[in-house]
Amino acid sequence: MSLESIPKDLRGLRACKLCSMVKSFDQFLYTGCDNCERYLHLKGNRGKVNDCTSSNFDGMIAMMGNEDSWVAKWQRIDKFTKGCYAISVSGELPEDVLDELRERGVVYQSRDTSDRA
Ligand SMILES: [Zn+2]
Repeated sequence: MSLESIPKDLRGLRACKLCSMVKSFDQFLYTGCDNCERYLHLKGNRGKVNDCTSSNFDGMIAMMGNEDSWVAKWQRIDKFTKGCYAISVSGELPEDVLDELRERGVVYQSRDTSDRA
């Protein structure tokens, strides 16, 4: 697995609003989102990182290779890259990003579960 995807410290962590992967701002800026880069284009784009990731998230689970785990299924991330994921992410993706996802046939489910708790 790639160690680059594991957050190096707990400060400045953000969660991807599309897949809920947790990395630092700099990691999103330098390597993009492991799962969504082809849709979100975060690499080298501070504005996009700000818009498409959120510093307001709850809980964190690590996916270390057991893709069949009940946690992965519960979080609907069984097909995602190994790494750390937030349980709930606050905030919505910007409208233009949602448009692009729709165009590409990607089903977006909000990761914001705070109002359902
Ligand atoms: Zn993502």
